[in-house]
Amino acid sequence: MMDMHCHLDLYPDPFEVAKQCDEKRLYVLSVTTTPKAWDGTNRLATGYKRIQTALGLHPQLAHQRANELELFDSLLPDAKYVGEIGLDGGKCYKEHWNIQLKVFRHIIKQVHNAGGRIMTIHSRACAGLLLDELEGIEGIPILHWFTGTKTELKRALAMGCWFSVGPAMMETKRGKELVSNIPKDRVLIETDGPFAKAKGLPIMPWEAGEVSHSLAEIWGTSSLEVDEILICNLKRLIANNESC
Ligand code: MN
Repeated sequence: MMDMHCHLDLYPDPFEVAKQCDEKRLYVLSVTTTPKAWDGTNRLATGYKRIQTALGLHPQLAHQRANELELFDSLLPDAKYVGEIGLDGGKCYKEHWNIQLKVFRHIIKQVHNAGGRIMTIHSRACAGLLLDELEGIEGIPILHWFTGTKTELKRALAMGCWFSVGPAMMETKRGKELVSNIPKDRVLIETDGPFAKAKGLPIMPWEAGEVSHSLAEIWGTSSLEVDEILICNLKRLIANNESC
């Protein structure tokens, strides 16, 4: 199956986790939180064609790592995927809003000028403002762990956004309702491990499949069919990216 937003490099034994992902034939989008982490994280995927690394600068670190933007620019030509990037409008990060915005604008402008990328994007408590910034940018945004309103969801869909849905979204009524409003052909699944936890333990990439069961309920179909839809979506996403 797949985990389209996972911090492979932050597990205690990332090489072992990568190896197990490969053994389980899992498609993994391995995201980074700083450009400095790119080399090491990319190395985890060596020899594993289903593990792809994304070049990122997490919005919650923007105020500490803005000086890595030059490194970001130099690495971008080698990166087929970008993330984790985005904006965080939550209480703890609002004070760094200006620097977050500066970093995010810089990154998406570079992505745009490079012809677009698949981007995995954080939009906590600021979905509307984030969509304002993404307007007209080349590439394919995947909004990860989306918590915006139904209206923002509609706007994001009209802009061509995809959504990666994780176990946490399925735990709330509101999350489930949002998911039920996303067309099946724009849904991917993720864990956001090891940040996201399941039963108190960091969730493992191969546990993303548990989301399939919730999707089966929402879509009124079997888990088997959900998995077929998700794989078909992933293939279409990648094919789109080759042509952009
Ligand atoms: Mn994340």
